[in-house]
Amino acid sequence: MTCFNDAIWFENTVRKHEESIFGIVVIGTIDISTVDQSIRDCRRECQRAGIDDNGPRKNMIFISTMQLTRTLDRGEFYCPTCESIQGYRQRSKRTFLTLYFIPVIPISAPEPFIQCDNCKSPWDLSVLHIDQRTHEQVRENQFRNEAIRSCVLMTLEDEEISEAEIQSLLRISRVILENPISREELGRLSSVAMHSGIETQNYVMTVSKRWNMQQRFLALQAMFLAASSCEEEVSDAKIRQLGRLKDLLELTETEFETVIEDSLMFAGV
Ligand SMILES: [Zn+2]
Repeated sequence: MTCFNDAIWFENTVRKHEESIFGIVVIGTIDISTVDQSIRDCRRECQRAGIDDNGPRKNMIFISTMQLTRTLDRGEFYCPTCESIQGYRQRSKRTFLTLYFIPVIPISAPEPFIQCDNCKSPWDLSVLHIDQRTHEQVRENQFRNEAIRSCVLMTLEDEEISEAEIQSLLRISRVILENPISREELGRLSSVAMHSGIETQNYVMTVSKRWNMQQRFLALQAMFLAASSCEEEVSDAKIRQLGRLKDLLELTETEFETVIEDSLMFAGV
């Protein structure tokens, strides 16, 4: 809402030149619940300024804006948030200029969007073109990238990377994660990891929230192999990080032990 002092100045100017045509112009988005209070505040300001409270108040004009949303269509789509088929409403949002809180003139173009009936998430119309398989493929690729980054971080826990570890990471990406990366890409990932200084557990804590159980098992297996791929003894730093993965990945004791045992099948990796 505009400053009422400006409005009073405007009102005084008008009254000087014409005999009270109209009073206060209010422009802005109005929260209806505040209008009464605003009128009271305004009246108080006017009284302080010596303006006749019974005059122009009767001719007050309220101009504001309001966003109106309407439903254009309905249907079913794959909701990435719900990860299932849900009903949707295709809706359109538009801003109107209002006169006494009645929308009269549209002042913006309609903004169409999709809203999930279940979770209420709003989506761009392009979400209708994403089917379940496409979405799952995107998620799977994302997981594989995150898993190899976790392995790189694990390898760098002792702040060095040997040729044997490089070869092992390349094999892990190819055999375990089925997402082969090149030596150049591995070099880039290692450089980023070294400069970021992020600990394995902090990275895994962030990204693993969206991993399903199968992905958690696979990532643990890959990280275990990455930690144990050096030619010397596994460093304390890596053992410490491995020990925290059970809780981070929310695995039971049995699940954790089973995955580690299964990893031994790939001991040659
Ligand atoms: Zn949803």
